[in-house]
Amino acid sequence: MDYLPLFFDLRERDVLLIGGGDVALRKARLLVRAGARITLVSHRVLPELESLLELNRGLVIIGEYHPELLDGKVLVLAATDDDQLNERVHYDAVAQNVPVNVVDSPALCTFVFPAIVDRSPIVIGISSGGQSPVLARLLRAKLETWIPTGYSRLGQLVGRFRDKVKARFGSVNERRVFWESVLQGQVAERVFAGQDSAAEALLEQQIEQGNAQHQVGEVYLVGAGPGDPELLTFKALRLMQQADVVLYDRLVSPDVLDLCRRDADLVFVGKQRDNHAVPQEGINQLLIDHARAGKRVVRLKGGDPFIFGRGGEELERLKQEGIPFQVVPGITAASACSTYAGIPLTHRDYAQSVKFVTGQLKNRTSELDFAELVHPNQTIVFYMGLHTLDKLCDGLVRHGKSVDTPVAIVSRGTAQDQRVLTGTLNTIVSQQAAAQLPAPSLVIVGEVVALQPQLSWFGAAEAENRI
Ligand code: SAH
Repeated sequence: MDYLPLFFDLRERDVLLIGGGDVALRKARLLVRAGARITLVSHRVLPELESLLELNRGLVIIGEYHPELLDGKVLVLAATDDDQLNERVHYDAVAQNVPVNVVDSPALCTFVFPAIVDRSPIVIGISSGGQSPVLARLLRAKLETWIPTGYSRLGQLVGRFRDKVKARFGSVNERRVFWESVLQGQVAERVFAGQDSAAEALLEQQIEQGNAQHQVGEVYLVGAGPGDPELLTFKALRLMQQADVVLYDRLVSPDVLDLCRRDADLVFVGKQRDNHAVPQEGINQLLIDHARAGKRVVRLKGGDPFIFGRGGEELERLKQEGIPFQVVPGITAASACSTYAGIPLTHRDYAQSVKFVTGQLKNRTSELDFAELVHPNQTIVFYMGLHTLDKLCDGLVRHGKSVDTPVAIVSRGTAQDQRVLTGTLNTIVSQQAAAQLPAPSLVIVGEVVALQPQLSWFGAAEAENRI
């Protein structure tokens, strides 16, 4: 190990910063966050840096560096582009035993700054010892996605109860077991769900009972997005990685499923059109049974669970049964397919509103309010509209939409084999009869579709335009 990671308490400590430009500003922000008192010396100082120090009881000296400035300082940082000055600062600091960092010159540093993941009071520092700051930053980005921002509030909450827990449990071992169950159990989940006071009440109760083992399961209704795993949210990925059981639909792509915890039980509950592998009531019951058994259940749904996903219905049952749940939104097909096809759903010149409509009509086209759908300057997105395409086009035309209105079908949006077919209300039915684009497919109707040839960027979409 070239550098020993230590965490430095800088609150109310004096730090010398030499330099007044952008780099000094970045370092000053960091030092201010850690509560340091900064003395800054430079011939020129960015106004932003000056006001930062003003606000934080710092001292700005416009002028020359001299070694006496090191007196009483616990750290010194040089962020200037004057190599000679940087070197002088280094030697002066070393002579006075003050830890020194010269930005971007590892050879002149007695300490280095790590890449930081800040979930204060939890703080992670990653260092490459000056060998590859970029590698450290990449690793940091990975950790940022991985660690819920709620860790900060969780850390603060349990910090407040440390003494109480110490008093309650005699042995170190008991305390460790207690904290492990608190931090992996309901208290933590309540914090992540934004219910801090419920978390606090529960923690108090558990301390009183002397036990946090009480295992209650929980259900996470998670939007898996349209298929491309990169379109998952951080939160979805985290919950998928800690699930005991995952109940998933046909729309959830294998690539997404592959990201679930390796030893989780993966249960397919179907939902093909009119062919539910497990009927809805069965799915509700499975969720309830697994949660009652103390499991963390992820109910994984294509797109967004609250957009044509029956998410609400499943939650109503859980609510009745008193089972805690959280909901994670996902990128819905309308959003994903339109962006990956190069069709902006709104546009100042063509569409001021957008409607998400189900095309599953069970032959009763009268269910749809076509008169309202044909309003000008509006984009219509039909989910589940492939099988009723002819009726949808016919209905729109009968209610006054022009036969030349552009239409797109986006098939298997965001997948590597995504295909896009564009035509008009007059032509799209026969085009689709010939092209036979497979489900799942989304139908987009409106003037914005005309922008598709220009804005198409993903996969083979471009080739289809020529049909
Ligand atoms: N909750 C989902 C929608 C479920 S309804 C969401 O928010 O996206 C199912 C319909 O969504 C399909 O019939 C199809 O019209 C559309 N759909 C879902 N994923 C799709 C994809 N990757 N490409 C095209 N359409 C998709």
